[in-house]
Amino acid sequence: MYYVSTRDVNKTKITASKAIVSGLAPDGGLYVPCEFPVLHDFMGKSYEEIAFNVLKLYLTDFSDDELKEYVQLAYGKNLPVKINGDYLELFHGRTSAFKDVALQLYPYLLTASLRKNNVSKTAVVLVATSGDTGSAVLAGMANVPNTRAIVIYPAEGVSPIQRLQMTTQEGNNVHVFGIKGNFDDAQKAVKEIFSDEKFKAGFADKYIFTSANSINLGRLLPQIVYYFYAYSESRCSGKINFVVPTGNFGNILAGYYARKMGLPINKLICATNSNRVLDDFFKTGVYDTERPFYTTISPSMDILVSSNLERLIYENVSLDMFDSDSVTDEETLQTIKDVYNSKQYILDPHTAVGQCAYDKYKKRTGDETQTMILATASPYKFSETIESALGNVLNNPPENIKHLSNKPILHNEVIDNIRKAIGNIL
Ligand SMILES: *Cc1c(COP(=O)(O)O)cnc(C)c1O
Repeated sequence: MYYVSTRDVNKTKITASKAIVSGLAPDGGLYVPCEFPVLHDFMGKSYEEIAFNVLKLYLTDFSDDELKEYVQLAYGKNLPVKINGDYLELFHGRTSAFKDVALQLYPYLLTASLRKNNVSKTAVVLVATSGDTGSAVLAGMANVPNTRAIVIYPAEGVSPIQRLQMTTQEGNNVHVFGIKGNFDDAQKAVKEIFSDEKFKAGFADKYIFTSANSINLGRLLPQIVYYFYAYSESRCSGKINFVVPTGNFGNILAGYYARKMGLPINKLICATNSNRVLDDFFKTGVYDTERPFYTTISPSMDILVSSNLERLIYENVSLDMFDSDSVTDEETLQTIKDVYNSKQYILDPHTAVGQCAYDKYKKRTGDETQTMILATASPYKFSETIESALGNVLNNPPENIKHLSNKPILHNEVIDNIRKAIGNIL
């Protein structure tokens, strides 16, 4: 299996490991697979078996033994995925958000990819985060040999627990900086550094830059797995819908890839908050990022530029398989309340956006197809919002969140010059 950049007219093919080492393509494009293999073997299989079967089709320059070992190390003891009724809970990993699913595996894929490409330099994993990626990258990369992780987050745009998860992260190779501005400013700055050959050349004797944002293939592929797993575990026999709370379009894109691989998905329902660039795109066909930015109670979806959409557009797809809706903060809070009252189930604000978009979809279409809603974060991660919706305090947080307030703050710098900050570290 080979990969090409979405922006390369010559369609130069590279291996999976090379794509993982590079992150973003040198031309600014994103790496996509040249074809979509069909996955036959997933019904009734364990998560690890499905993960191995999916990855084997894409990571053809990895051996079976390598893939088995990495899958075991990533998921053997701590499977971040659970199915709870109609909810595909993806938040049982180290930082209580769905990004852990990919980031528990990614460091193994990265270090093996470096080895396969004879890169002896230290890999600098540079990421922009709206909150959850940062903590998941830091937890995944902490103390991984021959790597450094540098995380840039909007100082005013993350929840208190997201901030604490980042600023208390231990590890001799991790660095965290707040910036003034929003997530798009952080993402833009990081993308500029990736395409700034002169800046990178200044460190090229010792370091190679890569990304662990969802633009990296090593993040995207592990996310395909849970769509197959959910279908298998739900004992679905016909088609299935998935509702995906969406920001950078990485999660839902993995669902689209699963569909290309033969999973009988009826609709992929893209749920956005008031930052509804994607909802407008699916409704009108126009992708217009020139619009006001809103800070919402689902901050991990506060985004104007949705990077992974470029991968979908590259496939030249008919958009019929997608549906979408946008959900306001008021609707989100009301949904948290309603679902708690009717099912005693507490939704985090992102998952509540998904639930509300699905409720609207069902009302609008009458579609009765079996549906799973991807639950992307633990409600404990956004406890202030939950408490304002339900009026009561959440008890019994998961261990990783319970201990946060006792941990020392190790990173509290807010910077305005990212290049300078990187220079100081390296
Ligand atoms: C990152 C994130 C999302 C958005 O996922 P994308 O892959 O960026 O579309 C949704 N919910 C939560 C809780 C997240 O952390």
